[in-house]
Amino acid sequence: MPKLAIDEVLLLVDAYFQIKDISSSQIRKDVIEELSSNMRRLPFNPEFRSDPRYRSVSGMNMCLANVESLETKSLMHSSKKQRLVFEYYFDKQAILHDHVRSILSVCDLEFPLLSEFSENIQGTILPSYYRYIENNDRAVLDLKKHLYTYGRSSCCVCGDDLKIKYGEDALDIMEIHLNRLLSQTYTAKSVNASELVLVCPNCHRIAHLRPENYTLGFYTGA
Ligand SMILES: [Zn+2]
Ligand SMILES: [Zn+2]
Repeated sequence: MPKLAIDEVLLLVDAYFQIKDISSSQIRKDVIEELSSNMRRLPFNPEFRSDPRYRSVSGMNMCLANVESLETKSLMHSSKKQRLVFEYYFDKQAILHDHVRSILSVCDLEFPLLSEFSENIQGTILPSYYRYIENNDRAVLDLKKHLYTYGRSSCCVCGDDLKIKYGEDALDIMEIHLNRLLSQTYTAKSVNASELVLVCPNCHRIAHLRPENYTLGFYTGA
């Protein structure tokens, strides 16, 4: 079976946190069955979907035992991705749960998965989805033009005025960023103009790759 993608590891670790203190075998069984069916819904490895062994309940039980070994520090074979996700979200379990709900709320939609996010601790699906909206949504593109027409040509993070640097090419170079917590996607109905900001391509890249270091107008990373 193919290795778990980062989004699948997010689902796995979330399921582990959901059931780790629960003794009811029925609840554990329900969570693990749901994990298996959600894994099979994600847009990875379509060629394996018809194989009942793919992301099966028994496979998920094995993966959960691997995650458990990270906590009990026993000698099992957890993967590097599992360890990274487990450690990153250990004290952010509620955020991880919302994040997973958000992944499941968009995973059936059609949009390309971007390889630049294939190792992203936020997963590949949500950042790819946001990039897709930013580049294709009519309302988003209209607003970009509108802001630019009304003299907004500076990146709201680094302050660079791209019109001064690039003249009329600035409109093509500037990008628009949907400034919303990825974990809140599942509650969002549509794009609100107040959530959109103009950014330069460099700052935009960081906003997607390291959202934890980024707040509007302020980069907090080293
Ligand atoms: Zn910038
Ligand atoms: Zn963006």
